[in-house]
Amino acid sequence: MSKKIKQIAIYGKGGIGKSTTTSNITAALSEAGYNVMQFGCDPKSDSTNTLRGGTYIPTVLDVLREKTKVDAHEVIYEGFNGIHCVEAGGPAPGVGCAGRGIITAVQFFKQQNIFEELDLDVVLYDVLGDVVCGGFAVPIREGIAEHVFTVSSADFMSIYASNNLFKGISNYSKSGGALLGGVIANSINQSYSKEIVDDFVKRTNTQILEYVPRSVTVTQSELQGKTVIEAAPDSAQADVYRSLAKKIAAHTESKVPTPLEVSELRAWASGWGQHLLELERRNSAPEALAKVSS
Ligand code: ADP
Ligand code: MG
Repeated sequence: MSKKIKQIAIYGKGGIGKSTTTSNITAALSEAGYNVMQFGCDPKSDSTNTLRGGTYIPTVLDVLREKTKVDAHEVIYEGFNGIHCVEAGGPAPGVGCAGRGIITAVQFFKQQNIFEELDLDVVLYDVLGDVVCGGFAVPIREGIAEHVFTVSSADFMSIYASNNLFKGISNYSKSGGALLGGVIANSINQSYSKEIVDDFVKRTNTQILEYVPRSVTVTQSELQGKTVIEAAPDSAQADVYRSLAKKIAAHTESKVPTPLEVSELRAWASGWGQHLLELERRNSAPEALAKVSS
C-alpha cells in the first residue's frame, strides 16, 4: 500500500500572513527532509513567490485555459530546496467562483496521480477566505485536506474570519469534512495580543499551535524574494517557523471547534476593548503625571 500523504490547509483573512507562514513551514519541512508541495489557492497567485526568488509562476487555471492537453509536470515548479510549487489561480475578477478553480486544479492533479508519482510526504494548501462563500470551503468540504489551521492575529477582523472558518468546519464536519488542527497566532508581540488569542481559542475549544512574532527579518527576507528559512536561517524567527513546522508534521488529532455566535463574538470583543482601554489608562497615567510635574 502506498504511504499516506499528509494534506493540510492553511486559512485566514487576506493579508494576515498565510503565504508567508505557509512558505516558511514548507521551507522548514523541506529542510527537515520531507518531500513537500505548496499549493496556492488564492486568486492572488503569489503563495509560492518567496520559495522562488520573488517570481510568479503560471497558474494551473491559466495553463488549462490555453491548452487542451496539459501534463501536470508543466504546472509544478521547483522552489527552494526542491519544494514543489503550484498556484491554482482563479477566475477573472468578478467572474466565476474561486472554489471551482481549486476543484479543477486538484482534480487535474488527481487524474494524473501526480502526488503519488512525486512521492510527496506533505501537501500544504494556502487558502484565502473566511468561508462566507462556499467556494473557499472546497478544500474542507471535498475531502482535499484532512487538517485545517488558521493564521490569525489578535485583530478583531482576523479573529472574526477565523470564527467564520470554524463555523464552516463545524457545518461540514457532519459530512466528513476536514477538522481543525488549531490556530497559528501571527504578529504577536504584545502580551495583551497573546492574551486575546489565548482567550479566543479557549472559548472556541481549540488550541494555539505557535505564537509567531511580527519581525523585520520577515520583511527583509520577503524583499529578497525569500523565506526566513532561506534568507536568515540562523535567526530567532527561523527557529519559530521550524518549531511550528515540527508541530505540523507531528500533528494527528484535529477536532470540531465551537464557533461563537456573532452576538457573542461582538460582546467578547467589546469586553476586550474595555479591558485594553483600562490598561492604557493605567499605563499612561504615570507619564501624564510626570509631564505635569516637569
Ligand atoms: P496573506 O497570504 O495572508 O495574504 P502574506 O503572507 O502575503 O498574507 O503577508 C502579508 C504581508 O505581511 C507581507 O508583506 C508579509 O511579509 C507580512 N508579514 C506576515 N507575517 C509577518 C510577520 N510575522 N512579521 C513581519 N511581517 C509579516
Ligand atoms: Mg497569500
